Amino acid sequence: MPLEIVRNDITKMTVDAIVNAANESLLGGGGVDGAIHYVAGPELLAECKTLGGCKTGKAKITGGYNLPAKYVIHTVGPIYEDGKHGEKALLESCYRESLALAKVHNCETVAFPLISSGVYGYPKDQALKVAIDVISDFLLENEMKVYIVIFDKAAYKISEKLFSDIAEYIDDNYVDEHTDYRRESMRMNVPMQASIGLFEADLCECKAMLSDDDLDAKLKQIDESFSQMLLRKIDEKGMTDAECYKKANIDRKLFSKIRSDVHYKPSKPTAIAFAISLELTLSETEDMLKKARFALSHSNKFDIIIEYFISKGNYNIFEINEALFAFDQSLLGA
Ligand code: ADP
Repeated sequence: MPLEIVRNDITKMTVDAIVNAANESLLGGGGVDGAIHYVAGPELLAECKTLGGCKTGKAKITGGYNLPAKYVIHTVGPIYEDGKHGEKALLESCYRESLALAKVHNCETVAFPLISSGVYGYPKDQALKVAIDVISDFLLENEMKVYIVIFDKAAYKISEKLFSDIAEYIDDNYVDEHTDYRRESMRMNVPMQASIGLFEADLCECKAMLSDDDLDAKLKQIDESFSQMLLRKIDEKGMTDAECYKKANIDRKLFSKIRSDVHYKPSKPTAIAFAISLELTLSETEDMLKKARFALSHSNKFDIIIEYFISKGNYNIFEINEALFAFDQSLLGA
């Protein structure tokens, strides 16, 4: 996954660069800044003293010293007043400038804390959204593995409205599951012959609606593998391969593997990530999952959350991952 949200202490991340939420003096402070200087050791402060500070929204780079990371990118987030003082643009600039510096230094892996979301007071859900938006834009054009490091569960919060909407949707669908069960047992009592008759009638109606060519195409699609269906859908949607795998938060290597192996069997989160990237409807998503021998079920939260987003027409994989993360579910992507 090119962008991953992880729960960790950023000073423990073994990556090319970690990003520090510094202040304009660059001479150390509390929070994540204090933790980074503490682990990196006094040489980090000595190098910072040579940099002449850093303006809000900008970034500067130093060595990582005793940290497992090779570099520290110091960026200065805005102090949040009321959201009307250009805070968002400045925070976006922090991420953009830090990623640009990382790129210049050939970093392949970079970890960010949630800049400004501590002492500087930026609301955490909005701070996370800014981070995800800017990083995912950058990843559309660049190859890099980026982590957003959340320090503790309490520090992480999707908007309460979204959280309660999803919680309600999960509740409703667990109820549906019981209803389905009743419906299922009623259906068991329908005589077998009657069901077959119905099926044949459906088939005739379907045949009547399709020309021979259409029917041929449909029959071919039934035999398609996951990989073939994926490539067909990419063409039908007028996307390039790269647009599709990037939007799915899948890395290029995995995509190449799927492309070159007709019988590739993806994991369920990977298959769903592609369905989201292609903006498939719920029934198309089910079809695609079937090719990989999976289904969406109402008996687990992961599936219900996916269904929630598809039914709302929200295909932003990073927002979906935020929600999955908040509900302690595995994330979409490789
Ligand atoms: P700012 O002054 O930019 O708000 P803070 O250091 O106060 O910076 O907080 C930024 C974010 O970093 C907060 O969400 C805080 O929970 C988080 N944080 C603090 N320590 C660590 C750490 N060791 N690793 C990762 N994140 C951390």
